[in-house]
Amino acid sequence: MPRMMLAALLAVSSLGAAIPAPFPTDHRTMTKTISYAEMTAFLAAVTRPGLITVTEEGRSHQGRQLLLVRLNRGGAKARFRVLYYAQQHGDEVAGKDALLTLIRDIAQRPELLPEDVDLYLMPMLNPDGAEAHRRLNGAGEDLNRDHLLLAQPETQTLHRVARRIRPHLAVDSHEFGRDGKDYTSRGWEAWPMITMDAANHPLIPDYLKAAGLEAVAAAAPLQRKAGHTYARYSVGGPPPDDELRPSTPEVDDGRNGLGTLGALSFIIEAGVRHRAKDPQADLGARVDGYRILYRHLLGDRAWRDRVFKLSERARREPLPPFIATNTFWANLGGKATSVKVVETATGRVLEVPTANVMTDLVVKGSVPTPRAYAIEPALAGRFRPVLEAQGLRYETLIAPRRARVERVRLLRLEEPYDELYQRYKDRQIVERQAPADLDLPEGTLIVPLDQDLARRAIQVLEPCLLYGLYGYPGFRESAKPGALLPVSRLF
Ligand SMILES: [Zn+2]
Repeated sequence: MPRMMLAALLAVSSLGAAIPAPFPTDHRTMTKTISYAEMTAFLAAVTRPGLITVTEEGRSHQGRQLLLVRLNRGGAKARFRVLYYAQQHGDEVAGKDALLTLIRDIAQRPELLPEDVDLYLMPMLNPDGAEAHRRLNGAGEDLNRDHLLLAQPETQTLHRVARRIRPHLAVDSHEFGRDGKDYTSRGWEAWPMITMDAANHPLIPDYLKAAGLEAVAAAAPLQRKAGHTYARYSVGGPPPDDELRPSTPEVDDGRNGLGTLGALSFIIEAGVRHRAKDPQADLGARVDGYRILYRHLLGDRAWRDRVFKLSERARREPLPPFIATNTFWANLGGKATSVKVVETATGRVLEVPTANVMTDLVVKGSVPTPRAYAIEPALAGRFRPVLEAQGLRYETLIAPRRARVERVRLLRLEEPYDELYQRYKDRQIVERQAPADLDLPEGTLIVPLDQDLARRAIQVLEPCLLYGLYGYPGFRESAKPGALLPVSRLF
């Protein structure tokens, strides 16, 4: 038998039965994203009892399935729980495609999945947006700005799944434009093809954030080896004049939303050339960059044991005595850094020096952590669905109760919307009142902070946050400039 044929036979027998899939055997040659219909058919065919199970966890605004794929070959021994989710923005596809190739690979070679890993994947969180090839969901909402209110069925489903699984590691998957007008007008494009950042909300313990940044840095040599340009994910415009900074410290996105549940939590963003003749011509490279990061974050046994311990510790961590209410990114000391860009005409990589790279998160304001929040009876009906979508425990007073109450007055909402960051509208300028012993009336909702999800409760309810609830429709009306806010702080 010719040598080649023997090798081919061995390859086939080690792969087991070939899995019919709507993408090529070599993922690096992908040039077409996988549609909702192709994905659901593939997932129905790839189910393997005892290895791969697929469940419907909810429906999108327009009624499409929100599917969860669980891969597990260690049974109860698989204690390291991982949740990778993708395509919250319907037109950002590579994360979903990479997850589907990962499922195919594990179906063919189960030994690729470590026995201690319980792997959960939600490849397409916004099927309505995917079908329409647009960012928003079927209700016209941006899902990755809905992790505070959880008003949409897609984000509600993700969080319900996440609270049930309580992952130790969570990864959100997006794409950004490498060739926005701000770059092309200078004859440039953004340098990295694939980027990653970790959760950074001030309520997430520092050791969890530090382990995240360590993993972000450790991925660089792996991407270099595969020929992909890679950097920590940043937001902003081209150097040297525009500001560049890490992801937002706000909690309305998936990365910080799930990070607050005590997971080591990341966002991955692959870079797309939207102005190219076929923006999907290099889909295979983006998928490859994604797969490298998904595998890297799974790490080896020692890494997983470490993340398991850090994450379990974060869940038991007492609340800090102060809550940061106003933070911003800064460059302490005005350090000059160089930022890489690609000169489009020549393909040359330029290093542009700038002092506008902000890497330090500064806390500008904070308030003492209360023991509970009280929601006035008139607004109970509006707040209850939010508390329930968050899985928060609360009590409804059936008789008046005396408590030490700090009320908060809204002075004004400041409105500038930041186009670059697609957020930062409605800054809440408030004034805390002197605490007083008051009778809270019957029908008041009390949300105690001695509960498992206390950090989520703070993020949703704390009335002193600079970016809080009162910029959102349905809550904005309940906050009149000059009036007391419906949520009070209890001590
Ligand atoms: Zn996105």
